[in-house]
Parts: sequence; C-alpha cells; structure tokens
Amino acid sequence: MPKELKILLASPRGFCAGVDRAIEIVKKTLKKFGSPVYVRHEIVHNTQVVENLKKLGAIFVEELDEIKDRSRPVIFSAHGVPKSVPKEALNKKMFYIDATCPLVTKVHREAEFLYKNGYKVILVGHKDHPEVLGTMGQLPKDSIKLIETVGDAANINVNEIKKPVAYVTQTTLSVDDTKEIIEILKTKFPDIKSPTKEDICYATTNRQEAVKKIAPLCDMFFVVGSKNSSNSQRLVEVAKKSGCLKSELIPFNEKLPIDLIIKCDKIGITSGASAPEQLVQNLILEIKKFRNISTEEVILTKENVTFKLPKSLS
Ligand code: SF4
Repeated sequence: MPKELKILLASPRGFCAGVDRAIEIVKKTLKKFGSPVYVRHEIVHNTQVVENLKKLGAIFVEELDEIKDRSRPVIFSAHGVPKSVPKEALNKKMFYIDATCPLVTKVHREAEFLYKNGYKVILVGHKDHPEVLGTMGQLPKDSIKLIETVGDAANINVNEIKKPVAYVTQTTLSVDDTKEIIEILKTKFPDIKSPTKEDICYATTNRQEAVKKIAPLCDMFFVVGSKNSSNSQRLVEVAKKSGCLKSELIPFNEKLPIDLIIKCDKIGITSGASAPEQLVQNLILEIKKFRNISTEEVILTKENVTFKLPKSLS
C-alpha cells in the first residue's frame, strides 16, 4: 500500500469579493430582466463560471457591436472597461450594468485624479489584459504609459518626461515582482507619487501569501484556475519562486499529471480568485482515486470583504 498523500489546502483561496459580486450581478440581472442578458467579455476569467451563466441565459460578447437585440441589458465584466464603452452603450441607447470590481474602479479614479492634477501616469500591468485596457482607457490616449517588466522600468527615458510622475498598478500582479519594478521607478523618479492605498488588491495579496507559506513544503503544487486568469497565473509563479518548481495551473477539465502525483508525499492546492471551490473539491476527488489522502487547511487569514450590488439591482 503506498504511503498516504498529504494535501495542504491554501486558505484563503478561490472567489474574492469582486468575483462574487460580478457573478451575483449577472444572476440578479437575469432574474430581474429575464433572458437573454448580454455580458461584455467573460464576467470573470473562469470557463466553468462562464458556461454555467450561459446555461442561465447570459450571452457573452467581446464588443457591443456584436449585440443583436439592443433592448436587452448588457453587463460590463469585473475587469472594468475603458470610458469609451459606457459612452458607446449610451449612444446605442442600451441599458448597461457595470460589474467592475470596486477595487478596479478605485484604480480608475486614482489614474484620472492624477492626470487631472498634472501628473504623467505610469501603469504597471500586463499589456492587453482587459483590466489594463480599462485603466488605460480612463485617460486620453498617450497620457498613460504602460510598463510590464523590470526592464521596461529601467528603460524609461527620464528626460522625455517633463511632468511630475505617479504610478498605479493592475490589481492582480505579483506583489514581489511589482515591488522590484517600483524600486526602479523610485530610483529613476525620486519624487514619484505612489497610490494612497496599495493597488494590488487584498485578495491577490492574501492568496499569494498563503501560497508562499505552503509551497516550500510541497513536492508539487496545483493552482486551480483558467489560463487567462492573471491572478491564477501569478499564483503558479509565486509557488515556483517559493521553492516548489513542480507547480502547475489546473484549468477546467485538465488532465492531471497522475504519474507525478503518485510519487509525491505532500502536495499543495490553491485556486485563483475566479475559480469556484467545486473545482478544488473535484481535483481532490480525482486524486483520491489513485492515492489515500489526508487534507489540512492552512489558514493565513480570514477574509470578510463584501461589496454592495449596483443600485439598479437592489
Ligand atoms: S481579484 Fe481583487 S480586484 Fe480582482 S475582482 Fe477580486 S477583489 Fe476585485
């Protein structure tokens, strides 16, 4: 009989308050207005969540132009949208509900405030991620500069920027990588203005800290989440950097590396902020088919954040 496999479950993991709210907004909109309801972009980056909402009557589109029946409500995803999107919806006489996470909206307002007060705004984030497109789209084109890496920060030409400089960041970045980038920015621009409150959100920070605590103890580490989920991808990187090189993302319906799992004594599991807990439990059940297991929840902190729904749904 092979030795028991110990599974360490990171806590907190899975849904954050912004994801909970966004999913609730789609469900409540369907209930109040009937189906179909359109959703611009995946409401949160998780395949199973999207598939379940499709079954309830949500239709996912990438742009408002794709919407055939403009009399139906449209919901903007939790990642936020450029200012041009609500404007376009109004021009098209469409009724919209904004499911942007309030912590993303905070970054939008911050960027706008800085711009209006004469700052050149640097955004630290990943090119083409919808949140980054949304934040950049709060300001006129070319008035916000995106940097992604330490190299980008090092390559900024200080002499080209004539205004005072401030930075904001995407909410789901790696806390440690971002620190390095900000250190470089501070060396280049000693007076750079930082956000009054950290832009990387509580959920991202807590999930990464929980991974750091257990990944070094594990032979393998699994992050349940979709490939396009930024915070899930960061959790894999954090697990690897913390010493567990065999760390992998487990998207919905992904085949498990059973040949590797059978050789382990201890594995760690977490899930991205947009991944339902059911997927974690399914993963554990799958592993149980091959090994005797014991599980231990390793709690870093308890979260009690909740966000109100938009007025139009209350
Ligand atoms: S990860 Fe953070 S910013 Fe993104 S939806 Fe969740 S709480 Fe909001």
